[in-house]
Amino acid sequence: MSENPSPSTALIHHPYQPPAGFAAPQPGVFKASTVIFPNVAALQARDWKEKTGYTYGLHGTPSTFLLEARIASLEGGHDALLVPSGLAAITLVDMALLAHGDEVLIPDNAYGPGKELARQELARWGISHRFYDPADPARLAAMIGPATKLVWLEAPGSITMEFPDLPALVRVARDKGVLTALDNTWGSGLAFNAFELGGGLGVDISAHALTKFPSGGGDVLMGSVTTRDPALHLRLKGTHMRSGWGVGANDVEAVLRALPSLPLRYAAQDAAGRALAQWWLQQPQVTQVLHPALPGAPGHAHWKALCTQAAGLFSVVFDARFRPQQVHAFVDALKLFKIGYSWAGPVSLAVPYDVAAMRPGSPWRGTLVRFSLGLEDPADLQADLQQALQAVRWDD
Ligand SMILES: *Cc1c(COP(=O)(O)O)cnc(C)c1O
Repeated sequence: MSENPSPSTALIHHPYQPPAGFAAPQPGVFKASTVIFPNVAALQARDWKEKTGYTYGLHGTPSTFLLEARIASLEGGHDALLVPSGLAAITLVDMALLAHGDEVLIPDNAYGPGKELARQELARWGISHRFYDPADPARLAAMIGPATKLVWLEAPGSITMEFPDLPALVRVARDKGVLTALDNTWGSGLAFNAFELGGGLGVDISAHALTKFPSGGGDVLMGSVTTRDPALHLRLKGTHMRSGWGVGANDVEAVLRALPSLPLRYAAQDAAGRALAQWWLQQPQVTQVLHPALPGAPGHAHWKALCTQAAGLFSVVFDARFRPQQVHAFVDALKLFKIGYSWAGPVSLAVPYDVAAMRPGSPWRGTLVRFSLGLEDPADLQADLQQALQAVRWDD
């Protein structure tokens, strides 16, 4: 390059380098599609499988490597992969581990879009699925056949919050030599260690919607797939690389910035969730409060055996004599609780569901409302629930 390059060149190839040794509480943000190699030999020698160097933005930057390492340690795993959403984490696991002719078993109370993926894409690719009752490990054992290659787990179940005997389900799959993948979004690595469930048992794979607790802001979509076994990680990483799952550096930064407060937020939302779930027990409009830490809730004993903490998330089933419109009017009357999907952000949320349509096999009938606690003062949230209950004519 000449001594005095033209401005257009100098704006790109500038000699100034900032001083080394910068240190600050938060790591820097590294953005790249292109990664620059020092020479051709380095370009030809670098291997995307190794985290000793960089090849292309899609396959890792200092930002993504750092978040992968933090998520792996949070969950008690060895390696993690980042994907653009929690649902993409489920897709990656299915795509990496299942082939034409295989079968996957999914809990009947699993996260809905993951079930829909099995009904549509997996079916189209010649991969069959069956839904199993996670409350019945013996039945799961009977369902596992030669074609079964993967058992999904979720604790607790989505929306209806039944906590399964996770170690028993893992034991069943392990005894049959079938891989287990847990949707670990609720536990977030804090409520229990998915890789150490006791007695030498642990899941093979943890999929996590980082969208929820790790982000904590209600403003980022991201997922992760964590493993302990390096060979299994490489299988997943191969599919990850070939399918083009990238995450943006600004989103990675947002999650890295939120991670230090994760345990505090989890504990605060847990305390608020339990207080309000207790309060709902006294309300005559509801017949069931579905929160795994409440005695009497489905799977409470299994929750207690594994966890001391719970996510700030629960559902209530309104008495079936109330019309859906009455329950919807209650939800519409809420002021602090907003109507919307997702959870673990700063804003408390409520969503109504028709419980019989959603879980045909469940013992409950009527309208269910799922609450997720934000970070508002729990006393204000309770007052909001109270005023919304009073705003509805229940005796119509
Ligand atoms: C939210 C959620 C997902 C999906 O996460 P997205 O980032 O919204 O795709 C998967 N599983 C569970 C249990 C969830 O709560």
